Amino acid sequence: MYHDIELAPRDKKYKHFYVLASDFDWQMRSLRRAGYTPITFEQLQNSLSGLVPLPKKPIILTFDDGYRNVLRYAHPVLSREKYPYTVFVVSGKVGGTNDWVSAEGYETSSLMDWDEIREIKASGLADIQAHTVTHRKLTDLTDEEIDVELKSSKDAIEEHLNHSIQTICYPYGAHDHKVVDIARSAGYSYGVTTDFGRVRKRDNPLRLPRISIHYVPPFSFDYGIASMNYWWKIKTRKDRRG
Ligand SMILES: [Zn+2]
Repeated sequence: MYHDIELAPRDKKYKHFYVLASDFDWQMRSLRRAGYTPITFEQLQNSLSGLVPLPKKPIILTFDDGYRNVLRYAHPVLSREKYPYTVFVVSGKVGGTNDWVSAEGYETSSLMDWDEIREIKASGLADIQAHTVTHRKLTDLTDEEIDVELKSSKDAIEEHLNHSIQTICYPYGAHDHKVVDIARSAGYSYGVTTDFGRVRKRDNPLRLPRISIHYVPPFSFDYGIASMNYWWKIKTRKDRRG
């Protein structure tokens, strides 16, 4: 799970918001060297229904919110590597900013507009999926509001891009049984959370865990050496879900 891709380090408080473009480039080269194969949710679906087996070391690269810097700095790297990736867009904020962070005192970033989203989609690499209409915490909303957030974002993306949406990314990872039930009846097959971990066969497809990749200084007491930290996250088979 990635968010912003930035050229220069930001203030400490933003570390969970981004990775550096140069680190991202290194991470993608490293995945190839280590034999990982990025796949799409469609490939995951095909393998679960027994149509096509998964490649060795499959990984789904996801980008939350749909930042313009993903188009600028991640897309060229992903194109070079020919890596498919998934972008979760907030349908009501397309072409605007992630203004939901303002309330917490953070500076906003620009989000791609529909033309830019069409551009990365047309490359054949970017799979565009849903991240609600307004990026509110779904667990704080009424059933009707959750339903609107899930259905209207799906409808809007399907209308703008003319492809069917099957995956929802829950804002802040916030989900419970009610949210998952409403997502299922809104027509989603997959839901991604911010729970840390690797996907296993027994996982509920509407509550998939992910691994958050964020900025780590070249060396820090909290995280050790940045590259080691990255591999620890990607390779570890232990996760905190018990
Ligand atoms: Zn988000």
